[in-house]
Amino acid sequence: MPRKDGFAVSSIREELRFKKRIVVKIGSSSLQHKETGGMDYARMELLVRELCDLKNRGMDVILVSSGAIAAGRNAVHLKPHRSGCAAMTMAEKQACAAIGQARLMMTYQKLFGEYNQTTAQILMTKNTIVDTMNRTNATNTFTELMDMGAIPVVNENDTIATYEIEIGDNDTLSAIVAAMVNADLLVLLSDIDGLYSDDPRTNPDAVFIHQVDELTEEYMDMGKASTGSNVGTGGMNTKMIAAQIATRSGADMVICNSNDLTNLHRIVEGEEIGTIFAAHPDDTFDLPGFVDGLHRS
Ligand code: GLU
Repeated sequence: MPRKDGFAVSSIREELRFKKRIVVKIGSSSLQHKETGGMDYARMELLVRELCDLKNRGMDVILVSSGAIAAGRNAVHLKPHRSGCAAMTMAEKQACAAIGQARLMMTYQKLFGEYNQTTAQILMTKNTIVDTMNRTNATNTFTELMDMGAIPVVNENDTIATYEIEIGDNDTLSAIVAAMVNADLLVLLSDIDGLYSDDPRTNPDAVFIHQVDELTEEYMDMGKASTGSNVGTGGMNTKMIAAQIATRSGADMVICNSNDLTNLHRIVEGEEIGTIFAAHPDDTFDLPGFVDGLHRS
């Protein structure tokens, strides 16, 4: 299958057909209507259908979904941040997360239920990874859920997570989950197409990067440009941290645009969509140590 620019599709793309365990992350900005802040049910429905289809292809599927704070904020009629109102206090955020996470999960349960697909909710903090017993328990739960055929829906436990124990963004969280469950593919659904050599909104000469074979400093620097999203917390920078965790723990990672959710099954069919970061399994990679060090520098 040739690429749009005439190049042949790389073998790494062809190999995506044989992936067995996929973690998919979707961000808040992809789950709500920009104009109103209300939940985008049409988009969620398409997402759930795609995930159920991946499951039916024989893959283990885990969804990492943001959107709790945004859904809660909308439920209690707090205006979206971009409309100029003050940022939320910690207590407001945590209260909105408590309201919104339940709404989010109710919606997912309903939508997955339409395809007779069992789901489960897992809420995590940094301690889930750093603490050995917590990590072992969480990993066992993930494994058991997948053996049961369920699709776990994961988020950070925003209601209780304070600075000391927060991971802070779901790009990083999804890569941590991928590492914990030995996933072989992580897909970050985002509001941009993938990695560019520079910020494409300010530099018309920015070049799209199709494939990153090795995460060099040069690529890490490219990631410093942000996505411009004002809903979630992840920019390209957090996606590059996710890429470090995912590739070192043995998973390929793809960043692609959530505006077309058929991207999901097309990626696992080997189509050249988004930016792919090639796995580089590293036996010395210390996941708890890496996570413990986040935010500390
Ligand atoms: N956990 C947050 C939420 O559900 C989102 C974090 C993020 O956007 O990365 O609202």
